[in-house]
Amino acid sequence: MTIPYGKHSLDEVDIQAVLSVLYSGWLTQGPLPEQFENVVASFVGSAGGVSANSATSCLHIACIALDVGKNDIVWTVPNTFVASANCALLCGASVDFVDIELETGNICVSTLRTKLEKARDCGDLPKVLIPVHFAGFPCDMKSIAELSREFGFKIIEDASHALGAKYECGNFCGSSIYSDITVFSFHPVKIATSVEGGVAVSNDLELLQKMKILRSHGITSDPDMMVQTPVSEIWGYQQLLLGLNYRMSDIHAALGLSQMKKVPNFVRSRRNHAERYNTLLKSSDVLLPPDETIQTSSFHLYCVQVLNGRQRYVFDHLRNADILCNLHYIPVYLQPFYQKKFGFPRGYCPNSEIWFKRTISIPLYPALTRIEQDFVVKVIIEALH
Ligand SMILES: *Cc1c(COP(=O)(O)O)cnc(C)c1O
Repeated sequence: MTIPYGKHSLDEVDIQAVLSVLYSGWLTQGPLPEQFENVVASFVGSAGGVSANSATSCLHIACIALDVGKNDIVWTVPNTFVASANCALLCGASVDFVDIELETGNICVSTLRTKLEKARDCGDLPKVLIPVHFAGFPCDMKSIAELSREFGFKIIEDASHALGAKYECGNFCGSSIYSDITVFSFHPVKIATSVEGGVAVSNDLELLQKMKILRSHGITSDPDMMVQTPVSEIWGYQQLLLGLNYRMSDIHAALGLSQMKKVPNFVRSRRNHAERYNTLLKSSDVLLPPDETIQTSSFHLYCVQVLNGRQRYVFDHLRNADILCNLHYIPVYLQPFYQKKFGFPRGYCPNSEIWFKRTISIPLYPALTRIEQDFVVKVIIEALH
């Protein structure tokens, strides 16, 4: 019996929702992507949303909408999926990395401040910062937002892991109180799924409008947005910006809409499983996920830190028991592409490298059973003895 590290939860209602689109005739560019983005925005408490075919696409159009271009610098963390950094490079900007804190795996605010002060002295401040809510545990966005005012950068939150997570103030991640744009992923391994898909939310109506145009070739068919008398009366659209085809189909949106109804339940069961892991692993030698007295995690991942160089040993032990644990993440700047292109030295972000040598993501998803969980814990404890 294989136990994966993450798994989507689909039921008959989800499947019927997809089938009804197939019967309806509107496969794409129908009403559902707009409904989906509105449901996500209102769930997290933001003014509006823009759906796209992936969170990667959302990050890309978010950068374009914030005018990230050739001479700009974007900062993110190394402890993330490559898309959080690639989006800047795709705009022709350069990218740099801020180290994480070892308690949470999130951006370290004091390292960020020091790096910003240095950058101000050198005249190379970032235009945009992309903090990542690792494993669904929110970054200290209040402090980051204060720094953004002081140093004048914009913020795109990569909340791919954090649908249903809450900041210290009790607002949902994505309520747009601390940032310009927040991006969620609906890939099957994330909190809820549209198979492939992403939604960017914002309180800035102009940014939302711009991202909506960018995801569809830079084109509008809204007469109010057209900038000159159409060349032809019967030609119903104009291209205003250089965009892409990043649209979400109605099939994907139908599944996303159906899944959104279950997000509170998904997050509740993830949090219950996490709490049970906390109890079962409390007296073992592994370090557990961060204390939640301030923020509330959505628990996309449950990461333990294995000390004394025993990560590989525990990892192999789990894999040999058919427990498909995983590593999150190889520091992005150590990826071959980043090494070849930019040659970041080893040790560039020491905590991110320590993190990578310590952590293991163990199975966590809504349908995880107590028996499976007990087995995972048993194998970890055996490996440590
Ligand atoms: C999954 C993920 C993405 C990309 O999401 P897609 O929807 O697969 O494009 C981006 N950033 C982080 C941190 C992720 O985990």
